[in-house]
Amino acid sequence: MALIDNHGRKVNYLRLAVTDRCNLRCFYCMPEEGIDYVKRSDLLSYEEMIRLVKCLVDLGIQKLRITGGEPFLRKEMMEFLASVSTLGLKEINITTNGTLTLPHIPALKSMGIHSINLSLDTLDRDRFFAITRRQNFDKVMETFHALMEAEIRTKINMVVMNGKNTEDIIAMAELAREFPVDVRYIEEMPFNGTGRSGGPEWNHLHILERLKSAYPQIKRQSSKPGATAVTFAVDGFKGNLGIIAAYSRTFCGSCNRLRITPQGMIRTCLYDEGIFNIRDMMRQGASDQQLKDAVVEAVSRRAKDGFEAEERRLNLASESMSTIGG
Ligand code: SAM
Ligand code: SF4
Repeated sequence: MALIDNHGRKVNYLRLAVTDRCNLRCFYCMPEEGIDYVKRSDLLSYEEMIRLVKCLVDLGIQKLRITGGEPFLRKEMMEFLASVSTLGLKEINITTNGTLTLPHIPALKSMGIHSINLSLDTLDRDRFFAITRRQNFDKVMETFHALMEAEIRTKINMVVMNGKNTEDIIAMAELAREFPVDVRYIEEMPFNGTGRSGGPEWNHLHILERLKSAYPQIKRQSSKPGATAVTFAVDGFKGNLGIIAAYSRTFCGSCNRLRITPQGMIRTCLYDEGIFNIRDMMRQGASDQQLKDAVVEAVSRRAKDGFEAEERRLNLASESMSTIGG
């Protein structure tokens, strides 16, 4: 079975945010004092998440990304991953800040986790502290090297921010020369939990200009279906470079994603406000068929792109990405 939206796009990729809690306070994601976390009992339980993933696999979801908040803050995360890995998904991917991941790397490898996205915005310890407001740089670098050693497919996500880390763009690219890692530059979005907004000065064109000035021979690669990154190869590099126009939203035409927030809101676009709460349906006794019908209905009314989704909602910039999952 395939889940097809009202614009003919196949939806086969679920981003499941397993918690809204985080041990870092990234400048672009939440305010220094953190955010008001939802009550523990309002988070989806593991049993509820497993039930939802099973229903969604029946509907045609093939790939899963576990995100958050910081997924490894959630207790018994590895047991949950082990259960989820038996549900018939083709890929399970995880996005993590890399501060709590290290002890789990051997188990992630043996479980066959397809890839890890590691958030790392700078290779400078002081700038790391300025951006994340925590002293975890060494731990994240240790995680990075352990992932390389374990030969787990890894992508680095770097949010590019004017005045914060643009001097790291090329140093970060150089990691892809030395290691088989894809380095992806992300436009900053206004999901910072503070209401601070405005388009990023470092948009995808500006980032590409910077890369081209260092690597004039950079070559654009063909994109995989549903990819958000425009990918580039540089001769002699083991990994690729990618640019994600997350604010400019140039990739919506082939978007294959469905999102579930930590408290069970279904979002058919990162920029929508949440279409309905599937946790509430489950807790009110809905059958699997009713849950599936509600998802099919939401997908059949999907905004054509992130601009339309944003227009349909009332309030955008006060949300933290930690409550959506990116
Ligand atoms: N805590 C984990 C981490 O940081 O990798 C997973 C959740 S985090 C919300 C998911 C992704 O969203 C990360 O790669 C992060 O860099 C990105 N992100 C968060 N806030 C963002 C923003 N305002 N603009 C662009 N990307 C953002
Ligand atoms: Fe935490 Fe990830 Fe948000 Fe940073 S981007 S505060 S690591 S959830």
